[in-house]
Amino acid sequence: MVAARNIISNLAYRCAGPNCGVLKGASDRWWVMWASFAEPGMPILYLAPWDEEVAVREGALHVCGDGCAQKLQSQFMGNVRENQRNSGS
Ligand SMILES: [Zn+2]
Repeated sequence: MVAARNIISNLAYRCAGPNCGVLKGASDRWWVMWASFAEPGMPILYLAPWDEEVAVREGALHVCGDGCAQKLQSQFMGNVRENQRNSGS
């Protein structure tokens, strides 16, 4: 059952939080975050309860808890400010 084992290892999620990198256990209640654009220049950060379908989407960040969610949120906010400065607005 090598194939089945490969599938299981592909489903191991690691927390995207800075200095975290914890591996998700089967029963852990995690969160998914992703950034998107409502319109050009209008970035939005999404935070949703864990959903397997959302978690495998491109750009999805896997988050172990509110501590890491907050760090990623402030990272996102920093990036937005940085881009605003660079575009001179
Ligand atoms: Zn974490």
